[in-house]
Amino acid sequence: MSYPRLKKKDLAGKVIDAHSHAGVALGAYGRAEFPYAQTIEGLYYQQRSGGVDVNVVFPFTADLYFDMPPLVAGRYLKARGVISPVPFQVENTLLLREVFDYCPELSRRFLPFISVDPARETRAQLRVIKQLLKRYPVYGIKINPVICQSPVSALLKAGQCFLSFAKEHNLPILLHTSSVAADVFSYAGNAFKVIDAHPEIRFCLAHCILFSKSFLDRALAAPNVWVDTAAFKIQVDLCRDLAGKVISRRNLIDADFNDHDDVHAAICNQYGARIIWGTDSPAYVYICRRQLSKTKWQDFDYKGRYEDEVRLLRNRPPAVRRTVSNHNTIRFLMGT
Ligand SMILES: [Zn+2]
Repeated sequence: MSYPRLKKKDLAGKVIDAHSHAGVALGAYGRAEFPYAQTIEGLYYQQRSGGVDVNVVFPFTADLYFDMPPLVAGRYLKARGVISPVPFQVENTLLLREVFDYCPELSRRFLPFISVDPARETRAQLRVIKQLLKRYPVYGIKINPVICQSPVSALLKAGQCFLSFAKEHNLPILLHTSSVAADVFSYAGNAFKVIDAHPEIRFCLAHCILFSKSFLDRALAAPNVWVDTAAFKIQVDLCRDLAGKVISRRNLIDADFNDHDDVHAAICNQYGARIIWGTDSPAYVYICRRQLSKTKWQDFDYKGRYEDEVRLLRNRPPAVRRTVSNHNTIRFLMGT
């Protein structure tokens, strides 16, 4: 048996959270960091509290593919007695089972994306994904280069098969990105090399690209790029800490970074045609050490809540709200 696929008309008028996770992040759990887990049922109760109708949802990490003790220490090695034979095999399978088999009463509230590692065992990953697609509707592909320590540029080499697959199935791709070049895996400058080479594929760059004016201008100028607001509250906090040090103040969008709401209003005004509201649930809080390269780690200690993300959306005028939580989202998800 296979499940029906939601269409544009099923999403009309709905408030869509375009960026959320389900599953576990075992590396974070092993380091006693936060957050580390979420279920579809838990997300549903967040939806109820926030007046959200539908969530785009994807796995957290590919940790079941890796050897756990080195992973916790920051080394990504394939485990010998591997639990997930290829990256995200178990995680993608469980996500789809959770949405469609285990919580059928909630299925119509979720748009699952599958996650891929753009560099490791890519053809084998694709074989597994094709099997899953026979049974389950999938609405897009999520790639977080830094959580599997694979560069986004691998999409132009070993990961090319995922681009062909996205094109063939009309699936959009959501990329975790950073405007900080020291994040060698997720640097937006490298993401744009992939995007510019593939104008036929719809991409969304996550986390407002850390409010980088030059990258946001590039997104606005490209026909195939959207930008999500995931974990907005703590991205603003992070930006305030990095401005003048790691990122240039002059390259930030024009807004008061001491006021989350002012930044949210500014990005919606200046880049509204491409902005998509998403919360990053449950990663709207981020208390962890993240590895940026073989030798560089970055400490995060940032606290936000689902209601902070919801409030920012509610503070916008109704027309802006509809644009960023519905119209733009549907265009990114399903095309025009
Ligand atoms: Zn995320």
